[in-house]
This record gives sequence, C-alpha cells and structure tokens, in this order.
Amino acid sequence: MKSQTISNIAPRGRLQSISEEERQIRIDLAACHRLADLNGFSEIVWNHITARVPGHSNHFLINLFGLRFDEVTASNLVTLNESAEIVVPPRASDGSILDTENSNFTGFVIHSAIYDHREDVNCVMHSHSRAGLAVCALKEGFVPVCQTAFQFYNRVSYHEYEGLSLDLDERERLAENLGDNPVMFLRNHGLMTVGSSVAQAYLRMHYLEISCQAQLDAFSTGREIHLPSPEVRARAAEQYQQSAPPGTYEWPALLRKLDEIDTSYRF
Ligand SMILES: [Zn+2]
Repeated sequence: MKSQTISNIAPRGRLQSISEEERQIRIDLAACHRLADLNGFSEIVWNHITARVPGHSNHFLINLFGLRFDEVTASNLVTLNESAEIVVPPRASDGSILDTENSNFTGFVIHSAIYDHREDVNCVMHSHSRAGLAVCALKEGFVPVCQTAFQFYNRVSYHEYEGLSLDLDERERLAENLGDNPVMFLRNHGLMTVGSSVAQAYLRMHYLEISCQAQLDAFSTGREIHLPSPEVRARAAEQYQQSAPPGTYEWPALLRKLDEIDTSYRF
C-alpha cells in the first residue's frame, strides 16, 4: 500500500535520535492533527491532541502552541514532563529548534490529568467540534439515536464547566469525572476522547461527532424520536466492545488518504 511504501523509504532525518516506537507515535499524532483539521475538529491554533511517550509514562507529546493543525509534523511536536517542562523541543523542517516562549497551559492541565490517572490511555484528544459543542450545551446532554452512537451508550462522562482550565486542581475532577469511560463531554466547552492508541482516540472523536450530529438532526425535526429499548442499545454497545478496537481498519485507510494529499506530517 502507498502509506507503507512511503513509511519504509522515509528518511529518519530530524527524528534520528529517538526510538522507532516513538517515531511511529509521533507520525500517528501528526497524522491525527492533519485529519482533525480536514474534518472540522480544529480551531485555528487552539485545542490539543497528545500522546504518551513510550518508555516515559510521565512524558507526553503535544502540539506546539501557535501552529495550525495542518502545520503539525512528527518533528515539531513538543515533549512535556509531569511538571509541564519541555524535555524535547520542537524542531522545524531544517532541524532548527522552534521557539516555545508561548504555550497553552490549558493543554497541560487537561491532558496531564488523564495520563496521571489512566494507565491504559496513550492518547487524549480534545476538540471544539460544532455538533459536540451544541450537545455540550444541552441540559439533557448526549442522547444516542443511531447505531454509530450506541457504541457510547452508558459509556459517556460529563465534566462541569469551571472557566478556562488554568488551575492544576481541576485535574482531579477531570480524571474523576472521566472515570473508566472512553469519552467525556466538557460542559459548555467541547469533547474529549481517549484511547490506548492515537488511532483509537481519533476514531472515537470521529464517531462521537457524527453521533452528536445525528442527535441534533433528529431533535431539530421536532418530531417524536424512535429509540430501541435500553436492552437493545446496551447490547449494541457490548457488540462494539467485543469488536476490533476503533481504528483497527480505518487508520491505515486514513493514512493512505493523507499520503495522497501531503506526506509532510511524517517528518
Ligand atoms: Zn478546549
């Protein structure tokens, strides 16, 4: 396949000093930003998607503040430690170290909260996607109305709005509210998804946003909503749970799409 071919011949260049495992995660995380941008999950320079650094459980990769999602590459990601210190700086295409004077501290607060409490999570994605924002503002919250949405039935968390996430003590409440669930609605703010891989977190965001769109579309008709019984919805959720994890089949297909557009995210 095309993506495998490109991956195999890609020069390691700026990423020579890191492990092959970390290089792959950096490529996936950069791809995730590009896909998020293509699919309306970006907001100019705001928002953040992160991934845990393999072998360093307290370190995670985050997008450099000031870059658009379509400018993110495997090399210009920033590695933060548990104290929000930069342990690996971002690098430009010529190998030079990029300026990190400005940062988005809310990214550290929201994401470090989850890595500290969920050992199974290796990627956290946060977005201000349009349908997700609307559902975050509904008092009744998320109502799964279609098959895609049933994968989240009884698997959704909520976090009350506290203002901009600039206080470290909000991390306890973020982690506690997420619990063991894969997705969380940050009330009046946006969506969060987590996964054991970048692919999982991205596909959960993709399917959650579609589910929110379906809910809003159905509600906007003003007509009565038909729903299967709670037992059937729970059964569908369980069937999803027992299927291949999200991203298993979709992620290679999405990378092929990206590679047809622009392979610069890989370097
Ligand atoms: Zn946000």
